[in-house]
Amino acid sequence: MILARLNEERGALGTPESKTIPILAYHKITSHLSLDPDSMPMSMFDKQLRFIHGMGYRAVKTEELIENPFQASGGKKFMLAFDDAYETTVRNSFHILKKYNFSGIIFVITGYMGKRNYWDTRARGKFKHLTEAQIKRLSKTGLEFGSHTVNHENLLHLTNEKCYRELKDSKEHLENMLGKPVLALSYPFGKQNERIQEIARKAGYKLGVCIHNSMRKYNPMAVRSWGIYPWDTRASVRGKLVQSGFEQFKLNFIKLGSEGAALLNACLRRND
Ligand SMILES: [Zn+2]
Repeated sequence: MILARLNEERGALGTPESKTIPILAYHKITSHLSLDPDSMPMSMFDKQLRFIHGMGYRAVKTEELIENPFQASGGKKFMLAFDDAYETTVRNSFHILKKYNFSGIIFVITGYMGKRNYWDTRARGKFKHLTEAQIKRLSKTGLEFGSHTVNHENLLHLTNEKCYRELKDSKEHLENMLGKPVLALSYPFGKQNERIQEIARKAGYKLGVCIHNSMRKYNPMAVRSWGIYPWDTRASVRGKLVQSGFEQFKLNFIKLGSEGAALLNACLRRND
């Protein structure tokens, strides 16, 4: 059954026409190597961007992606996204982005601006988020900002009203701060479904990005982003940029594995 589902997902994305502009997603860019899989040392980040730049890729901005999300044959557009808006990420990546003339979008948890990451159960309080003043200054340099909600909660667990407030309040907060429209949202933990997409649409978003998603057909409110990790090689980064069948297979396999583990845990709990 698992193989049939993997093949179905591979087949649905297999034709070149169906390929969209890829979104590469990073979390923390750090000065040193760390055991945290969401952390990428800046030297590695530099090497990856040099490699992507060397292949002739150009980073697009949100409006360009919304206007035409599809990659032309032989096209080399991509989007660079950073979840969580950590201070360390900008400090260690900004000069590298400038070096390769890449733009990027940073997804902000508006309830945590200037605070430490107490929402993160794995690294509670260890990292500081950008302050409002820093975000305003960075916005003037051309970096883009999107919403990553107010509190970084799993939206699937919230009522419609609470979910709407998470999406609408964070959007309005950023728009008032920056004086620019905020069109893109990154769902915390990549968790969303049709109900959440509809609420996001009502809140005024035009693009919903989710890490770990497997896209059967293009849906602007559930666009897959490709997480990039310290163990990614040149081959896997290239595979994610061209959204190769092999990388999709790996992603779907990992996703099914984690779904299977969650199901098993639920069954075991039921038998306790
Ligand atoms: Zn996040």
